[in-house]
Amino acid sequence: MNSQRRPPVQAAAPPDSLGPQHLTTRSRRDQLRDNLNRTREAIAAACSDAGRTPDSVRLIVVTKTFPSSDAATLVELGQTDLGENRDQEAAPKAAELGAAGLEPVWHFVGQLQRNKAKSVAGYADWVHSVDRAPLAAALSNAANAHGRTLNALIQVSLDGDTARGGVPVADLEPLAEAIAAAPALVLKGVMAVAPLGWEPARAFALLNECSERVRRTDPGATEVSAGMSGDYREAVLAGATMVRLGRNVLGEREPMA
Ligand SMILES: *Cc1c(COP(=O)(O)O)cnc(C)c1O
Repeated sequence: MNSQRRPPVQAAAPPDSLGPQHLTTRSRRDQLRDNLNRTREAIAAACSDAGRTPDSVRLIVVTKTFPSSDAATLVELGQTDLGENRDQEAAPKAAELGAAGLEPVWHFVGQLQRNKAKSVAGYADWVHSVDRAPLAAALSNAANAHGRTLNALIQVSLDGDTARGGVPVADLEPLAEAIAAAPALVLKGVMAVAPLGWEPARAFALLNECSERVRRTDPGATEVSAGMSGDYREAVLAGATMVRLGRNVLGEREPMA
């Protein structure tokens, strides 16, 4: 699908030397700009096919495994929403960009342990992966301690295999109520990853049913975070309001160790 290869990337920069202009080669910048434009056009085309306006879908570029210099370049290119899935990687990236005066809207999209809540609540604006009440409580307490509020999405496990994160469909309502009652969380909607082997359309239709149920608890919880590089078109056709794309914009990731 994406045959581009990443150019050789410089060694990771020490935190105080984040100079996007220095670290990002012109060709990498051009590549990111082209990928971003192409991706935005493809989302707009999917919106048009769905009879929706392009501004009804928010693009979140997932920068995991890519260097801070790429994230900084994306912000400079006008991409305001960035996603990460591991606190160990996200926290220093957010700090580096902040030190360089760049303040993207950070979305935490990965499985989250309660003991990371304090760190995540310090930089994330959105957490897409709230899947149990104790985590919601920990995030709310942590956000409160930082004097912030967090936008929370309920991650739903559409196939019930909760090993990959997410609350089982049957347990949605009590979690929605717990999040709605958490003082420093704002319940915004639902999120899911299409289960392996499922037709994306089937997955996103079930997610829409979950969204309806959550909106019965909180009518303002209208966001639906669905769609990755392989299935974002189907997600937009099914009504997603947020798509989370990594490879489409940044290129293939190195295989995880
Ligand atoms: C990595 C990741 C994405 C982006 O995946 P791509 O296939 O690179 O688009 C989206 N959502 C979550 C939860 C992820 O971990």
